[in-house]
Amino acid sequence: MNTYDRRRFIKLLANTGFMLASMSPLSAFSKSQKASARVLVVGGGFGGATCAKYLNVFDPSLSITLIEPSTRFKTCPFSNAVLSGIRDIDSISHGYQAHEKRGVNVVHDRVTHIDAVGKYVTLGDGKKLFYDKLVLSPGIDFKWDDVEGMTAADAKIIPHAWQGGSQTTLLRNQLVSMRDGASVIIAPPGNPFRCPPGPYERVSLIAHYLKQHKPKSKILVLDAKSKFSKQALFMQGWKKLYPGMIEWVGADDGGRIDYIEAKNKTIHTEMGDKHKAEVINFIPPQKAGLITHTAELTNGDGWCPVNQRTFESKQYPDIHIIGDASIAGKMPKSGFAANSQGKVCAAAIVSAIYGNKMPEPSYVNTCYSLVSPDYGISVAAVYRYSHDKGIYKVKGSGGVSPIEADAAFRKQEARYAKGWYDSITSDSFG
Ligand SMILES: Cc1cc2nc3c(=O)[nH]c(=O)nc-3n(C[C@H](O)[C@H](O)[C@H](O)COP(=O)(O)OP(=O)(O)OC[C@H]3O[C@@H](n4cnc5c(N)ncnc54)[C@H](O)[C@@H]3O)c2cc1C
Repeated sequence: MNTYDRRRFIKLLANTGFMLASMSPLSAFSKSQKASARVLVVGGGFGGATCAKYLNVFDPSLSITLIEPSTRFKTCPFSNAVLSGIRDIDSISHGYQAHEKRGVNVVHDRVTHIDAVGKYVTLGDGKKLFYDKLVLSPGIDFKWDDVEGMTAADAKIIPHAWQGGSQTTLLRNQLVSMRDGASVIIAPPGNPFRCPPGPYERVSLIAHYLKQHKPKSKILVLDAKSKFSKQALFMQGWKKLYPGMIEWVGADDGGRIDYIEAKNKTIHTEMGDKHKAEVINFIPPQKAGLITHTAELTNGDGWCPVNQRTFESKQYPDIHIIGDASIAGKMPKSGFAANSQGKVCAAAIVSAIYGNKMPEPSYVNTCYSLVSPDYGISVAAVYRYSHDKGIYKVKGSGGVSPIEADAAFRKQEARYAKGWYDSITSDSFG
């Protein structure tokens, strides 16, 4: 890096929220390697798209390839709004033209194999791509073996809609086709899982749809947990906006599922109750995206242990794992968290290539949820890293929406939610 580039990198980092540490001249890369260092980013969702973009922002001379099967990424954030009919799927779809314009090489394929020793990945078409640094942000997969009576194929009958796209559309179509008076079951998983408040926003926005179009219908929530994110705020909103429509059953009161008869759309609980419904949204227990398992990057719980300062794998050097797939201390598995980690990871990689000491990262997360289109609630926090604690929540930072608030306040938060979506998608995909 010449003096100008070095100054530019430091300025960019400062603008992106890093506390700068001293710079060291050590680097594992030779001068010629630095100019052409190859970074592969697998997964073009919130973590991967952000990381590929910021690698390019921090150092446009890097050779960056983003590998993602879809040409348009359909987000999970605001997919609950699609279920309730207040948004369409196109409004939550994003392409990669901005990445291509920046000079990021975008390859639409799936990585089927990682050779961590030979340092290459194999694509679906058999092609091999070699790397100096590899970033994985493959999101989540499901622990189907933990669910009695259901397989991945049964998600065509009982959609999870916990990965964006066709599953969102399938669940939406089922809601539209169901009879007025029929019931909907929503079954959220135990911790940890993608987007802790997501199932309860879903309950709310499906209730919003039913209230308008199928007012005789009801929602039964069979929860694998005994409490959930922003519970008091959600329940207050449900009582106010959808009285008598939603019944939430916690794990200790009969919410835990024993087995599912997928073809009969019937759920049997551990307490021996049997529930049949026209629409069931069972959200299975989760693990890191499949490729991290085949590459042996996960622990016994199915998630990827990483150095939480750089997101480098604890299993293999030069492989970084970000987003939902990683174990990121106290951070929740969210799109905002993945975006924040994408920037930290990009800075860590550029620092390593140029032998600069990694700056002190600061991470951020805000999760807005819509209880109705004009009723928003939120939870926010800032996080830092320490060697002893890993990523921890900064005391006194952020917080949740107040329980006592008027309609104007809730409406304002709903507006902020839309503003948040526009800015996070523009930061990740723009
Ligand atoms: C209903 C719902 C609502 C949500 N709402 C919010 C919200 O309001 N705010 C928020 O912050 N978060 C929200 N989330 C969470 C958010 O969607 C995830 O946390 C976020 O997408 C994680 O980013 P990621 O990069 O880890 O994974 P993803 O964004 O899922 O991206 C993973 C990508 O990797 C690709 N991929 C996987 N395997 C391979 C492979 N082998 N080769 C190539 N590509 C591969 C996939 O195609 C995918 O595009 C919500 C989630 C749900 C389900």
